[in-house]
Amino acid sequence: MADKKKPLSRHVLILSLSLNIGLILRLLYVDENWEAERGIHAAFCMEDNHQQTGGASKLEIYSQVIGKMKSVSSSISPSYDTRMQVENRDRIVNLDHGDPTMYQSFWEQMGDKTTVVINGWNFISYFSDAKNLCWFVEPDFVRAVVRLHKLVGNAITQGRHIVVGTGSSQLYQAAIYALSPNESPDPMSVVSAAPYYSSYPLMTDFLKSGLHKWAGDAQNFSKSGPYIELVTTPNNPDGSTRGAVVNRNEGLLVHDYAYFWPQYTPISFVADEELMLFTVSKSTGHAGTRIGWAVVKDEEVARKMTKYIELNTIGVSKESQIRAAKILNVVADTYDELGNPKEDAFFEHGYRIMTKRWNQLREAVKRNNLFSLPKFSSSFCNFSHRKYEANPAFAWLKCEGDIEDCEKFMREHKILTRGGKHFGFSTKYVRISMLDLDANFDLFTERLSRIRQ
Ligand code: PMP
Repeated sequence: MADKKKPLSRHVLILSLSLNIGLILRLLYVDENWEAERGIHAAFCMEDNHQQTGGASKLEIYSQVIGKMKSVSSSISPSYDTRMQVENRDRIVNLDHGDPTMYQSFWEQMGDKTTVVINGWNFISYFSDAKNLCWFVEPDFVRAVVRLHKLVGNAITQGRHIVVGTGSSQLYQAAIYALSPNESPDPMSVVSAAPYYSSYPLMTDFLKSGLHKWAGDAQNFSKSGPYIELVTTPNNPDGSTRGAVVNRNEGLLVHDYAYFWPQYTPISFVADEELMLFTVSKSTGHAGTRIGWAVVKDEEVARKMTKYIELNTIGVSKESQIRAAKILNVVADTYDELGNPKEDAFFEHGYRIMTKRWNQLREAVKRNNLFSLPKFSSSFCNFSHRKYEANPAFAWLKCEGDIEDCEKFMREHKILTRGGKHFGFSTKYVRISMLDLDANFDLFTERLSRIRQ
């Protein structure tokens, strides 16, 4: 009797064990995946509702979450891919902003090379260089800017004034302040050829200044008298190479060169304009550092821009300037003394990603007849010594056929973009960021290719 009972109790024990293990695994899986889903949602919604996420960046949250999902799936769930596909189907892809998170993986690979340590007793003063016309610019930052322009050959800096700003956005405002006459009864007209960068009209008229006023598309501008024309090249949103279009003697030009870097466009000339704007946001991807610089020929204009920033923010964060200087120097360090790329050369890396993404997007667009993209001719890049087509930071996508509101159409497919009207152009167009995370960009192209009307 006792002998017969033993196998039965062993069976009951095994059955109970396996039931419990199954239950634990199931709980683990559901729990982790629910957490992961919640995290992904938070990461993707962040740009929309600007929620705080306890200091973690969108990328960090996203990669933690993806990591979690992958580890859960590889150890437990055999149908992870299917589940991801189902989840991706409902996920909103937000490519409205030009947030350059694409660069984060490069900088992560650079490890400690860009680490900056600033002691509590450093940079206490408002002043950086009292002898400089721009008294709040850090000499190290100026040196790094000059070094990088010399290496890339995209702008003349010798004999020019470098004015630092909290992003090139602040410098844009400083520039239109400096170029608008003080005593004129009428505000100075500010124009740019459509499609123009959507922030220009907003920033120009934000404070309803009596000094300047947004006057729209430069191609339709016929008012006599002085004016400011903004020339963005390569252009945001359509990536075109541009020059001034009004071309009258009373015109003052601001050249916005935010994207005049080799990963986006061949560097086929050395820019030498009166007032040129640059930013780390799009050159190195450090938008959060909020540092831009203006290269200015005229001393009086540079002085007035400095005055604007003095009255606006009493200078520019020293910590940010030091960090920007470090980043710019590390970029320059990825090339040898002759300008040849080293293994981890920054602009080559950026160029490779941008080329890959543009090919991927053009392939996706071919899958249906609903969309079209601008075409770019290739030209020789004096920096990288090769001929190539532009790989703009934004795709200017046109909805073909009878889709009149492309932004709305894309939103219906859970893709957030910025519609043409924001750029003074047709609603048949949308601007799409090409600088987002790989996972987001891949999901976007995959979804775009599947759209059927
Ligand atoms: N100019 C252009 C053409 C831009 O696209 C941007 C960024 N979207 C800016 C200026 C502003 O850049 P920053 O982050 O330096 O203020």
